[in-house]
Amino acid sequence: MLKTTITGSLPKPTWLAEPEKLWAAWSTNDPARLEEAKQDAVRLAIRDQEEAGIDIVTDGEQSRQHFVHGVLEKIEGIDFNKKTRIGIRNDRYDADCPTVVSELKRTAPIHADEVAFARAHTDRQLKFTLPGPMTIVDTLADEHYGDRPAMAMAFAEILNQEAKDLVAAGADNIQFDEPAFNVYLDAVPTWGRDALNRAVAGLNCTTAVHICYGYGIEANLQWKATLGDVWNQYEAILPPLAESDIDQVSLEFAGARVPMEVIRLLDGKKDVLVGAIDVTTLTPESPEEVAAVIREALKYTSPDRIYPCTNCGMVPLPRTVSQGKLKALGAGAALVRNEL
Ligand code: ZN
Repeated sequence: MLKTTITGSLPKPTWLAEPEKLWAAWSTNDPARLEEAKQDAVRLAIRDQEEAGIDIVTDGEQSRQHFVHGVLEKIEGIDFNKKTRIGIRNDRYDADCPTVVSELKRTAPIHADEVAFARAHTDRQLKFTLPGPMTIVDTLADEHYGDRPAMAMAFAEILNQEAKDLVAAGADNIQFDEPAFNVYLDAVPTWGRDALNRAVAGLNCTTAVHICYGYGIEANLQWKATLGDVWNQYEAILPPLAESDIDQVSLEFAGARVPMEVIRLLDGKKDVLVGAIDVTTLTPESPEEVAAVIREALKYTSPDRIYPCTNCGMVPLPRTVSQGKLKALGAGAALVRNEL
């Protein structure tokens, strides 16, 4: 009970990529050296989690530059040379996005080798993260489908094939990251949930969806400042997710103006990955602070439903900060486990 996990990403070592940056450049262009560096980084990322007492580990997303584009780079139908400037996350940022120019196709497994490598280096439960269909659609320009729900369904089909290959390679848990759910609230009960259900159809592993308020980057901090005293996005999206086929919902609580009673909206039907680590601060939480978040969550669902977690990925943080936060997460969960 109270098994700990992380959202997904961890900082990369300087010998793999430029530190403290999103979408950082690799430190080497030599393919063989890069592969070796990625694998070394995965082993360290797993080791850091194990030392901190994290029960369900990830590869720290060490092998990809960006949580959305890592998977997209291998899908046919997307022209990465044709960048179109669009406003993403409802115009929160402008980004030069690759363009969908023809029917989308996955011609081979994308991350299966990475899962197999991570699987060979830990006995713990292994989670692998993929971007969710709505978030992918929101991070691309489209010249082919002309319809966001239709394009989301095409990606959901591809993600489903990929997820099945990742489970075969040794993943115990597949998580879809859907920060866009917090932005397009009206679309979640319709095509957002439908595409997610399609992505997890027939998967024989635990499945999760992660919905957050993002990293501590300037654009996000400005957006959060506009959200008022109570961030009530989860109120709109958790009832439809309670009726979805997903097993676990990963939510942000630490340092966020999110009322924890929203957990009740999942109606005891889903596990809750309780964000007890704030990824926007540079000071590791104390175990007692983590424990306080978990104790509060226990008011709204049963202990077997709670998985203490980070709010979001930790890729932009200094490594020592992230290591301190991992330790606090493990130690804070242990405190509450002992109480129970
Ligand atoms: Zn996140």
